[in-house]
Amino acid sequence: MSNVKGLRCRECGCEYNEGPFYVCEDCFGPLEIVYDYEEIATQLSRERIAASSPTMWRYGPLLPAAPDKLLLDIGTGLTPLIRARNLGKALGLQNLYVKNDCVNPSYSFKDRVVGVAVSKAREFGFDTIACASTGNLANSVAAHAAHCGMKSYVFVPADLEQAKIVASSVYGPNVLAVDGNYDQVNRLCTMIADEYHWAFVNVNVRPYYAEGSKTLGYEVAEQLGWHAPDHVVVPMASGSLLTKIAKSFGELADLGLIEEHQTHISGAQAAGCSPIATAFETASEEIIPVKPHTIAKSLAIGTPADGHYALRVIRESGGHAASVTEDEIIEGIKLLARTEGIFAETAGGVTVGVLKKLAESGRIAPDELTVAYITGNGLKTSVAVEGRLTPLTHIGPTMRAFERTLENG
Ligand SMILES: *Cc1c(COP(=O)(O)O)cnc(C)c1O
Ligand SMILES: [Zn+2]
Repeated sequence: MSNVKGLRCRECGCEYNEGPFYVCEDCFGPLEIVYDYEEIATQLSRERIAASSPTMWRYGPLLPAAPDKLLLDIGTGLTPLIRARNLGKALGLQNLYVKNDCVNPSYSFKDRVVGVAVSKAREFGFDTIACASTGNLANSVAAHAAHCGMKSYVFVPADLEQAKIVASSVYGPNVLAVDGNYDQVNRLCTMIADEYHWAFVNVNVRPYYAEGSKTLGYEVAEQLGWHAPDHVVVPMASGSLLTKIAKSFGELADLGLIEEHQTHISGAQAAGCSPIATAFETASEEIIPVKPHTIAKSLAIGTPADGHYALRVIRESGGHAASVTEDEIIEGIKLLARTEGIFAETAGGVTVGVLKKLAESGRIAPDELTVAYITGNGLKTSVAVEGRLTPLTHIGPTMRAFERTLENG
């Protein structure tokens, strides 16, 4: 048995029984999970968490999937939280950490959400899992389907990085490359989900899927010795991850696992697709859809489903939202690699670029305990930095050639 009591509409509060539903029949608002927190409190303590599995499933009581044989644990989570002294020095931040989520089984944070969604899809009796993806989600859905022997269909924009297509196809799913942008892919998948009895991880099982992102907050608090950070910087596509990190700190405080603490939640986008950051910067309530045009393809959602909720979290937490140019994204990737030895994908370049901006403008104070979330692996988007690195030194296979090169500096 999981600790889920049911589903509730985030807009009108209407309640529903548990099932593969995602939208309110009354007002079309999105549904979210209602938990039995009293029961959860009896199942969780710092000691019990420390003694359980070294994966995201150590926080199983706070996730909507039941701890039984249908739960799919492929080793996701409990990724390193690195004290980033060198990057901190470069940015004038004395207390900076990097959460390195590049090292999950399919090399992005999406394994966290998919782990929950697929476990739930199995519980609901689906035999096919599917998704609309900007790349990383497709990789993760295909990997999880392979692991548990389910059929899978992944839908991606056809102009995706080749490495991300390969990193899906290798697991043997049906890859559908759609001539259109993510928002068009997503619309198509919503129509398919209405007609076919498939579990679209980010459509009809989205309320469950989204909860997986909370583990990125729980882990950071645990790794900091059961403290919430002062400030976090989070990349935003739909905005869901950012809202769930905020939720996770609140839950831990309510359960008494950490002390109540004000964490400033800041969001990062690419200037080529920044509907949420633009609304923040213009102090607008309205999130105006955009047509994405950026190398940060994993964040290229022009109509962000959780944009309003993300905006509210950012404002209420005293955080900021900002965007960076394509050049700043590449500089961000290189800066992180050269200071900390972590090769992030373009989304990581966005996060580091925005971190730099917020530090330089004083919006992050030098002594704030700050965590930057690095959510995807650079080998998937290496094409973005090709031609932007120091050229190779070619030499003949002789000592003489080698020594001549050294002399020439
Ligand atoms: C999907 C994704 C995000 C953000 O996801 P949300 O839709 O905002 O939850 C961040 N980083 C990477 C690398 C991603 O693939
Ligand atoms: Zn409703």
